Amino acid sequence: MKPGFESFPNILSLIGDTPLIKLNKVVKNFKGDFFAKWEAYNPGHSNKDRIALHIINEAERQGLIQENTSIIETTSGNTGFSLAMVSMIKGYECILAVSSKSSEDKINMLRSMGAKVYVCPANVKADDPRSYYQVAKRIHEETNNSIYINQYFNSLNADAHYNSTGPEIWKQTGGEITHLIACSGTGGTISGCARYLKEQNPAIRIIGVDAYGSVLKKYHETQEIDPKEIYPYRIEGLGKNLIPSATNFEVIDKFIKVSDEESAHMARSIARKEGMFVGYTSGAAVQAINQLSEKGEFDQNSKVVAIFPDHGSRYMSKIYSDKWMKEQGFFDSNHTEVPNKIEYIQ
Ligand code: PMP
Repeated sequence: MKPGFESFPNILSLIGDTPLIKLNKVVKNFKGDFFAKWEAYNPGHSNKDRIALHIINEAERQGLIQENTSIIETTSGNTGFSLAMVSMIKGYECILAVSSKSSEDKINMLRSMGAKVYVCPANVKADDPRSYYQVAKRIHEETNNSIYINQYFNSLNADAHYNSTGPEIWKQTGGEITHLIACSGTGGTISGCARYLKEQNPAIRIIGVDAYGSVLKKYHETQEIDPKEIYPYRIEGLGKNLIPSATNFEVIDKFIKVSDEESAHMARSIARKEGMFVGYTSGAAVQAINQLSEKGEFDQNSKVVAIFPDHGSRYMSKIYSDKWMKEQGFFDSNHTEVPNKIEYIQ
């Protein structure tokens, strides 16, 4: 190729350097400036590309994997997709145990990227042999030459964000960021970003978003896991029924809980008002901003960055389906805004 020919060696070169985008309409009544760090711009369309690449690169560097190694993981979908993508490019087999709460679309996407998928019941305890943790563990034990990514308990998860997402946010805001709002699942994103950002400026407020039905918020406040906090909920990728060691609770200032219903409506509003077709947890992040704003968290000088972890295309049969919304009872209360009616021409 002659000089001036522009191309990337492969898709993995495009991981990271996602854009920061100003939110204008969904936050128009709040004090401060609000920005989304939209991780859907990664080639695998989520924040999880960063950890998949970092963890597999590290395993290669440490000589833990060879050509025919199987990469095994538990995942709510996004991590699986990213691992499948990275494994495929690097020539490894990818085996995934997913929760039955994951959308059918997500599961088919994993299979399309060449992964082998096991679907496990969502509403069983983490130590139940049918849980996706236990299934992944068992497959790892039974498969010679395999590595278990174990994103909830792998410190490389947060390191990936400490090395990339955190520095990007600091640079993109010219160091002016005052608040980071991030949904917490494994806690890797929030913990890695928070560690980096607090090293630059300890005054930056780090706020984690948790779900009703998850133990994270209460654990952060009391250091106790309260089983009464655990019950089924709809949002995928956010909250947990156990405490992941990938989460560094010390660098998080507080957690706020958001509801399934309000987060779903907020995601739909972001699509309609900002033109950003976002995933469910992006709606949760802006819903958290909404609640925090009501509590007086922000002022005119606030520069708030919310992580938007993925893309709306992964939720077509869920929050972007009126049928699903109706089945959840999400149109029963005061939320009546629905997209334009479909006109059928005979
Ligand atoms: N949103 C979505 C859609 C996710 O899949 C995840 C990951 N479970 C998160 C948010 C939370 O990211 P993290 O695991 O880094 O806390």
